[in-house]
Amino acid sequence: DLEKKIRKIRDHVNEYPDFPKPGVLFRDVFSVFQNAELVAMLREVLIAFATQIQPPVECVVGIDARGFLLAPFIALELEVPFVPVRKKGKLPGKVASVSYALEYGEANMEIQESSIKEGQRVLIVDDLLATGGSLGAACTLVKKLGGVVEACLVLMELSELKGRLNVPTNVISIIKY
Ligand code: AMP
Repeated sequence: DLEKKIRKIRDHVNEYPDFPKPGVLFRDVFSVFQNAELVAMLREVLIAFATQIQPPVECVVGIDARGFLLAPFIALELEVPFVPVRKKGKLPGKVASVSYALEYGEANMEIQESSIKEGQRVLIVDDLLATGGSLGAACTLVKKLGGVVEACLVLMELSELKGRLNVPTNVISIIKY
């Protein structure tokens, strides 16, 4: 069943202490992609959670970079567009931008202006929720284009950081640490 598959996925997320800097325990979703059977489970689990969102979403946004691994599974199943939110300077054409605070300094993320329609119901997807800065910025970008963020979906949540408080919408997390 689903719980068993989630446990299996969790068992195969490799952990790297002190990466990319001291004090961070990096949880590497790429290790799941080493095994095709696990990828199929991951796809099934993501779809199970995403299809529970009502009303159904009309667009799935993935966040640079590991959100790009997950969001297309959902978009394909729902037969809706997949839209990337990327770090500054990566997307061609007209873009909307937002800057958001990092632990030290700030970062910028962008979305292509034509990628979301006024009133479109959007699901935002990423691999992991830490401080919530990334998901919060993606929400701002979607709203700038007139989209409505129905929910955010992450595979993993670092619960003790309380990052969901920085995200102005419902956050669904599949694995909680
Ligand atoms: P935040 O914006 O602080 O919520 O951080 C979330 C983003 O940073 C996601 O795109 C994650 O891929 C990445 N990230 C933050 N912390 C970790 C971690 N401990 N392990 C893996 N990725 C992380």
